[in-house]
Amino acid sequence: MTSDALAHAESLIALIPDFPEPGILFRDISPLLADATALRTVVDAIVAPFAREFDVVAGVEARGFLIAGAVAAACGVGMVPIRKAGKLPRPAASVSYDLEYGQATIEMADDLPRGTRVLLVDDVLATGGTLRAAQRLLEGLGHRTVGTAVLMELSDLGGQDVCGPVHTVFRV
Ligand code: AMP
Repeated sequence: MTSDALAHAESLIALIPDFPEPGILFRDISPLLADATALRTVVDAIVAPFAREFDVVAGVEARGFLIAGAVAAACGVGMVPIRKAGKLPRPAASVSYDLEYGQATIEMADDLPRGTRVLLVDDVLATGGTLRAAQRLLEGLGHRTVGTAVLMELSDLGGQDVCGPVHTVFRV
């Protein structure tokens, strides 16, 4: 992957002001996902530091699913969805965490052997609360998070202090 290819992929992330609420600059990765070359470029960039070190990729609902599925297919490993509360028919564990306003809960089924090596991915690292909760969820089920990676880090929000080190493809 070249720096030109990475720059092109980054240019495809759409910036949507005031979504989903006033004051939030939403990073919409849909145009990047729709571009075959850009998708391949970012998948390679996410995997690069962890090649052959993981048995499965876990993705956090919802856009983390898209990245995890693409990474898993490219690497020939399986994929595990970490879901928002109430969506799974047989959750094995759940973790609650604080949001700016209120709380959220994520859940996971456990179809993995104990000690599975997991690469945990999401689209955006903001405050780090979501990925920290996902790390705790995996840990609680006896799995090893060998790497945490995102497409984009919003570095002003301090997420690396909460759930780092996180491998990031694009940093703003
Ligand atoms: P946090 O737990 O604060 O790190 O938030 C990360 C989660 O919120 C990720 O699952 C992202 O999909 C989503 N998120 C937070 N901020 C943004 C943003 N500015 N643009 C897109 N997604 C975001």
